[in-house]
Amino acid sequence: MLKTECEHYRPEMAAKVGQRSQVCEVCAIEGPLRVCADCGFVGCCESRNSQDTEHWKLTGHAVIVQLPLRETSFTWCYAPNDYLK
Ligand SMILES: [Zn+2]
Ligand SMILES: [Zn+2]
Ligand SMILES: [Zn+2]
Repeated sequence: MLKTECEHYRPEMAAKVGQRSQVCEVCAIEGPLRVCADCGFVGCCESRNSQDTEHWKLTGHAVIVQLPLRETSFTWCYAPNDYLK
């Protein structure tokens, strides 16, 4: 899915996304981690305790970015569960 087609993605998200924590903010494990593009929440992914998914359910923040942040980090939207390109 293209970023322009995602109702949750806003272009300014890419500029402000950063890594404020080196561990999951809920269970303190070291990864793999994702960062919420909306509010900066750092959570572990589905292969651990799925705090990124919990965050989406709790807040409606649908867009996450893979950590650590690199040129190749993927962006993902939980609705409808697809990579944003
Ligand atoms: Zn979306
Ligand atoms: Zn966690
Ligand atoms: Zn968030």
